[in-house]
Amino acid sequence: MFFPFYARRLPDSHFLAVSRSGDYVFLGEEDLHKLTTAPQELELDRLAELQSKFFLGSPTRQGSLRLLASKLLAKRETILNGPSLHLIVLTLQCAHTCRYCQVSRSLGSLGHSMEPATLAAACEMIFESPSKSITVEFQGGDTLLRFDLIKFAIEKITERNLQEKRHLRFVVSSTLHQLDERMCDFFKQHNVYLSTSIDGPARLHNKNRPTPTRDSYERTINGINMARDLISPDVVSALMTTTRDSLLIPEEIVDEYVHLGFREIFLRPLSVYGFARRNFEHLGYSLSEFSLFYERAFEHILQINREGGDFREVMASVFLNKILSPFDGGFVDLQSPTGAGLAALAYNYDGFVYPSDEARMLAEMGDTSFRLGAIGETLDALLNSEVQQNLIRASTSPRIPGCDQCAYNSYCGPDPISAKNQAGDIFAAVHLTDHCRRNMWLFDFLFMKLHQQEKWFLDLAFQWANPTPEREFCCA
Ligand code: SF4
Repeated sequence: MFFPFYARRLPDSHFLAVSRSGDYVFLGEEDLHKLTTAPQELELDRLAELQSKFFLGSPTRQGSLRLLASKLLAKRETILNGPSLHLIVLTLQCAHTCRYCQVSRSLGSLGHSMEPATLAAACEMIFESPSKSITVEFQGGDTLLRFDLIKFAIEKITERNLQEKRHLRFVVSSTLHQLDERMCDFFKQHNVYLSTSIDGPARLHNKNRPTPTRDSYERTINGINMARDLISPDVVSALMTTTRDSLLIPEEIVDEYVHLGFREIFLRPLSVYGFARRNFEHLGYSLSEFSLFYERAFEHILQINREGGDFREVMASVFLNKILSPFDGGFVDLQSPTGAGLAALAYNYDGFVYPSDEARMLAEMGDTSFRLGAIGETLDALLNSEVQQNLIRASTSPRIPGCDQCAYNSYCGPDPISAKNQAGDIFAAVHLTDHCRRNMWLFDFLFMKLHQQEKWFLDLAFQWANPTPEREFCCA
């Protein structure tokens, strides 16, 4: 008997087959035909491989069915264990006027910030999640402008955790422009990680992220250096956003990260929300333009590793984790059903809870349809809300036309929130969404790399596929 599997002809014409367990094999056309019609005619070693990877089996072999069930369970841990990523959006205050800003910003000192009582309620709500590991990420605006709120929340959560004993991780996302010694002392004492933005060399960064003093890059670098000196060398991670101006200089952007002492880069495509949508004509690009940029940067990163460097690309690592590891790395944006709500929650300064950062960005743009409820409601009420149930229905890949036949559906699924942003409908035809087209392209690209069977690349791919505590995948 054979278990259901999915086959795909890669752009380099080779056939890939992926089983329900997410195991894969590359097959010639003849072997693929034999697998579906007369598997007993396959070579013995091929037959054994297909059995061990859950392509072939016997319905009476309970052992292999149990093993398959436990493999499927391990891969779904991120969405089954309760929300583990809790984003607290403290304020929209920010001194930058970034060209791709996803929320409208506010320079006012009081407006658009979370009230302390609401923040206290959000800190309590976090512990309603049954997840043993909890990451609390503070988002803005520019969060350090409200260090008072960060301090209040971290102290409150830490105190409650004395009884709860969860594995806690705090991340503060900020430009680091306001970082000072007092903040560093506090962050060191509470094991807080910092996440910042570096788009590439100074001229690109300052163009994308202008401030009145035109020194956004220099001030972020000062913040990074201070944090490394006063907290710890690995305390800061950085994210970049790819804009039209980035496309011609992929190697220079990677070199900038290496030069700044980072050990990874996340080559993030533009998220087309807020100002990024309004400025798309100047900032945006097609998937084929992005893929050329990505492939050049990726080859450059491989060369750095070939020469003895230790540097990884985060998006590839997340995808390789899906392909190569029996354990899910916990990346919220690549789950089916969606990790939005099931694995992550965003507590917004406006007092409402959203299933993701992108959902609250849509709320800033006037679309509040993803509100799960108010801060202070029970987690049960939020997760059983019609909004959450619709998100699950729209992202369970085996039930979605298009995904149901896709070779990558054990690794991936639709993103209903970006579908709503792009096409106005969470059930928009999946193949037309940017999310699907980009994922399909990256899976193809990585499988073609794996198919080349270069031993050196396979070793690196397995290394990237397994996050370590020091180098966890970015949260969202
Ligand atoms: S979203 Fe696209 S790439 Fe992902 S499983 Fe569905 S059809 Fe495949």
